[in-house]
Amino acid sequence: MSAFHREKVLSVRHWTDSLFSFTATRNAGFRFQNGQFAMIGLEVEGRPLVRAYSMASANHEEALEFFSIKVPDGPLTSRLQKIKEGDTILVGQKPTGTLITGNLIPGKRLLLLSTGTGLAPFASLIKDPEVYENFETIILAHGCRQTSELAYGETLVASLLEDELFGPMVKDKLIYYPTVTREPFRNRGRITDLIASAQLFDDVGLPPLNIETDRIMLCGSPGMLEELHDMFEERGFIEGSHSEPGHFVIEKAFVER
Ligand SMILES: Cc1cc2nc3c(=O)[nH]c(=O)nc-3n(C[C@H](O)[C@H](O)[C@H](O)COP(=O)(O)OP(=O)(O)OC[C@H]3O[C@@H](n4cnc5c(N)ncnc54)[C@H](O)[C@@H]3O)c2cc1C
Repeated sequence: MSAFHREKVLSVRHWTDSLFSFTATRNAGFRFQNGQFAMIGLEVEGRPLVRAYSMASANHEEALEFFSIKVPDGPLTSRLQKIKEGDTILVGQKPTGTLITGNLIPGKRLLLLSTGTGLAPFASLIKDPEVYENFETIILAHGCRQTSELAYGETLVASLLEDELFGPMVKDKLIYYPTVTREPFRNRGRITDLIASAQLFDDVGLPPLNIETDRIMLCGSPGMLEELHDMFEERGFIEGSHSEPGHFVIEKAFVER
């Protein structure tokens, strides 16, 4: 267990039958870069039961926050969804991940493209003042099936707009683009299609994808990532990594087991 910090749950909020978020204490020694993930979970029968989770909180915040799926028969989330204030969670001491601004070549416009809980690392990044210093425009796209699944992101963006420090930056630079596939809504369709057709850019009144200015971070379902990866590579965009920054970086929101 020494690989994990034991943290206390501070609050839990259930957004839908399949989504919840929670905050927890943060060990003073737990440092991470915005956009990274760590192994987190519960102690079950004396052993750690952990999974990869993106920090949805930013590294300047005192508490940790996570945005989670509830998989009905999932080994971890069937238990994790029952946590309450005061419970203990395990947080791995070694955060990692590719969705960090240092893995991108400098650019002007940052596209953060997510589906489902893939929003989590971007919840952290849109609270990072450096992101607003390094990019003129940040587009946060979040695709879900139902409008109810957008609530966490909608609430987050609304609270950032009200924030004394972030409000003005967010108002000037952040464009939030929620979209759903299975219900009527102001934006409809899959993010992959909305990028391929340039509809997303039309909707927000900005020029289409441009390799000179655009840098992209992707976090979503394996299918969404594969399609967008291929689309961007066909257009000459190069995938970045820790060894060499590129035009776009990718992180899986989950792995199909
Ligand atoms: C790099 C990385 C970062 C991750 N960050 C998060 C995060 O911030 N929040 C989060 O909820 N999950 C995240 N995950 C997924 C997470 O690690 C677990 O898979 C999830 O918590 C379910 O755990 P489980 O033990 O209940 O079920 P598992 O046995 O892990 O998963 C069972 C099945 O559920 C489905 N599934 C799992 N996770 C998701 C998901 N998030 N969305 C849709 N379907 C899913 C998949 O089909 C999977 O095969 C991340 C995964 C990776 C690889």
